Amino acid sequence: MGRIIQLDDALSNKIAAGEVVERPASVVKELVENAIDAGSSIIEIEIEEAGLSKIRIIDNGHGIEEDDVLMAFQRHATSKIKTDNDLFRIRTLGFRGEALPSIASVSRLEMKTSTGETGNRVVIEGGKVEVSEKSSSRKGTDITITDLFFNTPARLKYLKTVHTELGNITDIVNRLALSHPEVSFRLLHNERKLLHTNGNGDVRQVLAAIYGLNIVKKMIPVEASSLDFKLNGWIALPEITRASRNYISTMINGRFIKNYPLVKAIQEGYHTLLPIGRYPIVLLNIEMDPLLVDVNVHPSKMDVRLSKEHELNELVTSTIKNTFKKEELIPSGYTQL
Ligand code: ADP
Ligand code: MG
Repeated sequence: MGRIIQLDDALSNKIAAGEVVERPASVVKELVENAIDAGSSIIEIEIEEAGLSKIRIIDNGHGIEEDDVLMAFQRHATSKIKTDNDLFRIRTLGFRGEALPSIASVSRLEMKTSTGETGNRVVIEGGKVEVSEKSSSRKGTDITITDLFFNTPARLKYLKTVHTELGNITDIVNRLALSHPEVSFRLLHNERKLLHTNGNGDVRQVLAAIYGLNIVKKMIPVEASSLDFKLNGWIALPEITRASRNYISTMINGRFIKNYPLVKAIQEGYHTLLPIGRYPIVLLNIEMDPLLVDVNVHPSKMDVRLSKEHELNELVTSTIKNTFKKEELIPSGYTQL
């Protein structure tokens, strides 16, 4: 008799969770992305103890239909893609169908969801469905994660201080808010409000909520397009700098991404205007044909492979350079908000 066995769902989900749910901030990212994909206009995020005791996300999106509620917790179950053709034309933030089963396998999870017609409640602990029943609630989804990593002690030990984990969460929520100014976000930690955006679609309002009005007054717009790319965003004048690259936010087709060459291209645009070891505050949105960007690189979907990376980076550098050249001619800047 052979020795190879097929692992059961609970165990294989736990293995996947190792990659998808690295830390509390990854749970927040996945759940907020789901809320955005559901067409929500208001998303509330309540965190306790940097997400270790509680993460709750309430949205007013389309909810999950009764027949789909348990299906949503199956591995590779998604409403976002159907065929391999779709995989190359991704417009949603999610598509892997991995987040809910992964999160549910390493936490205690309660979800209430309603389409406006049906309403359901499920409780899942360590991947095991404990409750699945009808319930009434308003349209949208309300999901609470408690005791994250209660059954994966090594992961629990690996987490950093509350301060660091909370920093990761605010960083993620800030970027989600910057990439979706049309959605109102509210982030609370231990009932203290850390971020509130009004969802009026003006990204400068989001920048002001995150960095403060005085910084936004020192940011100028950038815009450019080529055959393959459309860029727009806001860049801080070189007099405003920071000690880390963390203030450079880059989005491709509404998804924030981490791409070192792109960040280098932005810095290159500032050229010698930045002191050594200092970095600018930048928000850059890039629109391109989804065929040119592969987001299926890592479960966190933050890494991407770009087909025309070199062209894009050149466009970014020259756009920023030209903006500053023009800015010298109009020194009054864009200070009114
Ligand atoms: P993915 O987002 O990759 O499809 P997930 O595991 O994150 O996979 O979610 C599985 C499915 O559950 C989604 O495809 C979606 O249909 C549904 N879903 C999850 N969260 C929400 C939500 N907040 N509102 C509506 N539907 C949701
Ligand atoms: Mg998802």
